[in-house]
Formats: sequence, C-alpha cells, structure tokens
Amino acid sequence: MTTVWTVDAEHPAPGDLAEAARLLAAGNLVAFPTETVYGLGANALSMEAIDRLYAAKGRPRANPLIVHVADPESAQNLCDSWPDSAELLAQAFWPGPLTLVLPHGGKIHSGVTAGGDTVALRVPAHPVALALLRAAGIPVAAPSANPSGFISPTLPDHVLQGLGGKIAGLVSAGPCERGVESTVIDLSGSQPVLLRPGPLTPEEIAHVLGIPPEKLLISAATGMEGPEKSPGRMGRHYAPKAQVVCVASSGEAQSWCDRWTREGKRHVWLALEPGPGSILLPNTPPGALHSIYKTLHKIDRDGYNHVVAVLPPAEGRWLAFRDRLLRASLSQ
Ligand code: AMP
Ligand code: MG
Repeated sequence: MTTVWTVDAEHPAPGDLAEAARLLAAGNLVAFPTETVYGLGANALSMEAIDRLYAAKGRPRANPLIVHVADPESAQNLCDSWPDSAELLAQAFWPGPLTLVLPHGGKIHSGVTAGGDTVALRVPAHPVALALLRAAGIPVAAPSANPSGFISPTLPDHVLQGLGGKIAGLVSAGPCERGVESTVIDLSGSQPVLLRPGPLTPEEIAHVLGIPPEKLLISAATGMEGPEKSPGRMGRHYAPKAQVVCVASSGEAQSWCDRWTREGKRHVWLALEPGPGSILLPNTPPGALHSIYKTLHKIDRDGYNHVVAVLPPAEGRWLAFRDRLLRASLSQ
C-alpha cells in the first residue's frame, strides 16, 4: 500500500512531512515533488534503500542516481573537491534545476554512482522537497518517480499510475513547475560538459562560468557534437506508449497525419503553432517544457497510438525540448 500525504506546495506544515521523512530515513521509498518532476526518494546512505529503488523502477544498475540535499554545504560534504566552477554555479542556480557531477572520493557508496568515481548532486528548489530533505536529515537519491524508460511524472496521479502499491508513500503537492528533469553539468574533468539539457540553457550556464557558450562541451548523448561522458545513459527514455515521430517541417507532419488517417490510426500532431488535429503546447521553451510530459501522459491516457511533432530549431534555449522529443521518438 502507498500512503499519500497531501500537503500545501508553498507552505508545507512540518507535521505533515514528519511521517514521510521518518519512513524515508528508515530506508523506505517515498515520492515527493520537486520543481522539475516528481522524484522517487531513497536514503542515499542505505544500500538496502538503493537496492529497493532500482528494483521498484526496474532501472538498470549502470544508470547512476542524482543525490538531493538541502543546501550547498551538504553537497560539498559528499564530494572530494569543490572547484570554483561548482561554487559559481551553485551560487547562481541552487536551489534550482541544476545537477553538478563531481568526484566523490569515496564519500558516497558505489551503489548510488553505478560504481563510478563521480557523484551527481542537486539542491532542489521546491519548498516541499527542501522541507522533506531537512526533516529527513539525510542525502536522498531521487530519480524520476516512474518505471524506468517511461514518461516522468509531473503530477501526483502520474506517480500513482506508475508506482502505486510499489512504494511506501507519496507526498502530493500539485504540479511541478519546470516539468522536465534538471540540467546536468559534469565538472569532474578539465572542462565543464553539459551531460543532459534541462530547464537551464547552455547560454545561462556558460554566462555564469564566464566562458563563451561554444566553450561549454555538449555530450554526444544530447544529439549534439561532443564526447560521451556520462555512464549509463540510454537512448530511449521519457517515452510514452504511443509511437512518436519527429520531423523537420509542418509539410512532413501533415503527410504523417494524412497517412495515419488513411490507415485509420488514432493520431495527433503535437504542435507549437495552431493547426488541424493538433494538441498545442505553449510556444516558449519554459512553457513547452512545462507541458510536454503532462501532454504525453494525456495522449497515452486518451488512447492515441501515433504522435508527430515538428522539431524546434537546434538552438540552446530549445535544446532540452528537442532532446525530450527525440528521446520519446526512439524505438526501444
Ligand atoms: P534520472 O534518470 O532523471 O534520475 O537522471 C539521472 C541522470 O544523471 C542520468 O542522465 C545519469 O546518467 C546522470 N548522472 C547521475 N549520476 C551521474 C554521474 N555520477 N556521472 C554522470 N552522470 C550522472
Ligand atoms: Mg527518469
């Protein structure tokens, strides 16, 4: 059975989180809201809790976890070195949708890091996440609260649909503002590398680091040029049950829709501009990111089998949205 605690998103009463924090610290799995997506929390100091987490999600052990902490000092305590770049980014963006990858020097056990030398760390900005982390008093490993490979949850119902009955609890506090996972930056090498595009754009990161945007290396797994740095990242991810096709122009999107109409297949055009048969997403990067997973969940629930989307321009501010569309479109 999964216990659900419904709390105020802005001002959670400490008493409302006490039971969730206790269960979490004791090694149970508790889902909670962050400003990106709902996370599935496990005590990062407990090997048993981490085993439970991988099992509940069906997540491959080679895919390392992001450790969530309440403040930058707690993050520093879990890594071996804290370069100036980490200090600059933490000061600019924490609490917020940014994950930093740093050498851990043995300060966290290998089950969390997939056996690697680095740990991924984040201070989330959601008041409920912060209050829960403080109350639990432990670092919390928290991947998205969904079965591995499927769409991340941005509403409490999404968590229950995917993991209800399999986890001890869910702290329920409405929708997640950002709507996609954090931007991940690797600071463990000689140059910073963007491992996963997210709500913070490459331009924003480069600006704070005081480097030209083109100096920020971009990992090959994002679909852009660059070296592969992160272990365990899989191609298909964040995917709905429906088949998603990404195209370059509205003409191509229309051809797919015509073909599916001829074949009698339930389909939809996921669009940034109004058009026939389309579901409209807000035509700004933050708006489109906020809505993408919620909309893909709804497309599945409404029984559409085919989705076509026109990719936005390959520029920094649209990178995360392109990345999520492309990942949703890859076949298993
Ligand atoms: P999620 O699946 O949303 O929990 O995201 C975790 C992401 O962070 C994945 O892309 C991981 O590969 C990445 N990640 C976590 N830990 C590390 C690490 N130590 N080094 C590089 N990437 C990491
Ligand atoms: Mg995930």
